Amino acid sequence: MRPLGGLGEIGKNMTMFECDGRIVVVDVGLRFPTPEMIGIDLVLPDFTSLVERAADIEAIVITHGHEDHLGALPWLLREIGARDAPPVYGGPLTMAMARAKLEEHKLRDVELIDLADGDEVDLGPFELELIHMTHSIPDASAVALRSELGTILVTGDYKFDQTPVDGEAADLSRLAALGAEGILLLCGDSTNADRLGFSPSESVVGPHLEEVFSRAEGRVIVTSFASNIHRVQQVIDAAAALGRKVALVGRSMRKNVAIGGQLGHIEVPDGLIVGPREIDDFPDHRMVIVSTGSQGEPLSALRRMAYRDHPQVKLHDGDTVVFSATPIPGNERAVGETIDRLYHIGCQVITTADAPIHASGHGYAEEIKLMLNLTKPRYVMPFHGDYRRIRLHAALAEAVGVDPERIFCAENGDVLELDARGARFGVPQPAGMLFVDGVDIGDVADAALRDRRMLSADGIFIVVATISEQDGKSVADPEVIFRGVPFLDEAGQLREEIQDLVETSLESAAKDGVREPSDLQQLLHDHLAALIWERLKHRPMVLPVVLEV
Ligand SMILES: [Zn+2]
Ligand SMILES: [Zn+2]
Repeated sequence: MRPLGGLGEIGKNMTMFECDGRIVVVDVGLRFPTPEMIGIDLVLPDFTSLVERAADIEAIVITHGHEDHLGALPWLLREIGARDAPPVYGGPLTMAMARAKLEEHKLRDVELIDLADGDEVDLGPFELELIHMTHSIPDASAVALRSELGTILVTGDYKFDQTPVDGEAADLSRLAALGAEGILLLCGDSTNADRLGFSPSESVVGPHLEEVFSRAEGRVIVTSFASNIHRVQQVIDAAAALGRKVALVGRSMRKNVAIGGQLGHIEVPDGLIVGPREIDDFPDHRMVIVSTGSQGEPLSALRRMAYRDHPQVKLHDGDTVVFSATPIPGNERAVGETIDRLYHIGCQVITTADAPIHASGHGYAEEIKLMLNLTKPRYVMPFHGDYRRIRLHAALAEAVGVDPERIFCAENGDVLELDARGARFGVPQPAGMLFVDGVDIGDVADAALRDRRMLSADGIFIVVATISEQDGKSVADPEVIFRGVPFLDEAGQLREEIQDLVETSLESAAKDGVREPSDLQQLLHDHLAALIWERLKHRPMVLPVVLEV
């Protein structure tokens, strides 16, 4: 088995399991770019090695509908080609969300197969079974893969919520039964390995939301993840209890509530929901707006409201904005900015620091221990976490009595070999990232990204030299254009120095018989970059253009 993403990081979960040359992939997730990744829209696990072996892939299994488990699926299938794509398995809501995504990418021929918990499916050398889990999206599953060697259990994201909103607790008895049969390898969620005790139930959030709503004199705007359908249900219930109408704002919010409604994961009283255009038809104290944008995402509805740029919702003082989510690491700044804009408008802002209006979807330390004790795995590989959380998960495994030699703290690309003799690390494979820039996929050494970083920090020099086709000598003054170069007060002087350097470089090149424009450009680039570094101690992009006349 080999993780391609999700270890040593939070996001882009993806793992391949191979037996007798046949592959099952569990999860195909993505990550959102960090601020240094200028102009990059999405980050994907590097699945090029899998694309090359597309014919060997028996199936893809998705544990749940979150972007960090499902989001890269269309990109992988696009590379493989819809016609050669393996079938994709998952719970009904997960597959409905996958279908909507593939639809956006016009990938209609892919076979998406709904699996009910407990169904058993033969996938070549493996047998697949999904086990119901609780998480911050309905229809989350653990994946059991049985082979001749034993059973591998991938928990996916989970918590052990004893009172979930839909009443469907995680299938503890099935996990225990699998543990009694014997689990060879457990790959478990590490996200909250650093939090002590048990996570609070999702059900505790509802009453606190209702209390916050009841204190608000004007409109209430609640933001949370659109996929957290049970949270939206609790907002709807609290609004209904207080006689407020609900408007859903943001495309993904409306889409997920529609899909969740069709599959029976959310129940809305008749007449409760009104369209975004009808918001102003109701008095402020009769309205709750549920919005996307809990992470401060640039184009989200809440962000646009905060910047007074939303077509339907104009915020004003007296409005209360409730953040029923916590920022994912990396998003704190964008969330902070959004909150400050809301205060500027005069809104009241309530976050998880003010009231318990959020519950994490990931189990805490005691739940991780419970999983280990229920399943009694022979080997453990902590999944879904940065290195710190993976280590903490390993310590929890040791604490419940797993032999430290049977705990594998791995990173992306590591290969774990399992056979009758045991388990050990094999030769690691390269594991990088792919970047999505608009609609194109590039690799990790993506030149565009480097160029953008360079341009944003140090600007650009363009130098146009005109040479004679006959003897390669410069026939006109070189033109020097620069933009965005910092500390360039002595521009005039540097411009002359650059022109002189171009002339002398071209002269000596002509003497050495260097005549190809591409060679000359390379040579000019090296000389100019050295001069500019010498003078400015910056490395702007240097773009020499050699024209022959
Ligand atoms: Zn996740
Ligand atoms: Zn998740």
